[in-house]
Amino acid sequence: SYFEKLGLAEPILRALNTKGYTEPTPIQRESIPALLDGRDLLGIAQTGTGKTAAFSLPSLHRLAANPKGRIPAGCRMLILSPTRELAAQIAENMREYARFLDLSVQCIFGGVPARQQARKLVPGCDVLVATPGRLLDLIEQRALSLQHVEIFVLDEADQMMDLGFIKPLTRIANMLPQERQSLFFSATMPQTIADLGKRFIRNPVRVEV
Ligand code: AMP
Repeated sequence: SYFEKLGLAEPILRALNTKGYTEPTPIQRESIPALLDGRDLLGIAQTGTGKTAAFSLPSLHRLAANPKGRIPAGCRMLILSPTRELAAQIAENMREYARFLDLSVQCIFGGVPARQQARKLVPGCDVLVATPGRLLDLIEQRALSLQHVEIFVLDEADQMMDLGFIKPLTRIANMLPQERQSLFFSATMPQTIADLGKRFIRNPVRVEV
């Protein structure tokens, strides 16, 4: 299949088989090779285009190809999502794509006690999906550190702006290591969002679907 030709790791191909994916969607076709190469990405795409697999599959491949022990209170990949529902959905998808890999996925969001979520972060995880406000709370409580993040994904940037997350986003970005891969997705790309993107991504591949 096309996914095989891309060189995705066998456990990922097996997970895709289980899901019944045979052909990539356009955004997957355009972004997976560049992401496997470690490039930054600017993606203009809505939910429903297969965007989640487009950023998840190459990222899981790269994390699995370079295994590291779990870092207490740390994570290797951070995905920011504007709402609890979207965050939970991304985490669920990623767990399915990672089901045959030895990688852990955690999800944190507001509206539930922070203490419960802080406990989930103690051993560290590979992939963390989070909403910005709760993420900052947990960092301030020293339940989480971002110093080991290798891959950063900002999803639904236009919704993030609408919900007033620009300040938390800037604070979070300032805590990330300089050396990282960054992916920036938005359904629309007016100048304000493009300017926001420039702060997070370097020399990105641009994909519009
Ligand atoms: P997303 O835009 O990431 O929310 O994906 C939309 C839906 O398409 C989800 O239900 C995915 O499970 C599904 N999907 C993603 N990629 C593929 C694919 N290559 N083949 C079939 N279904 C897919």
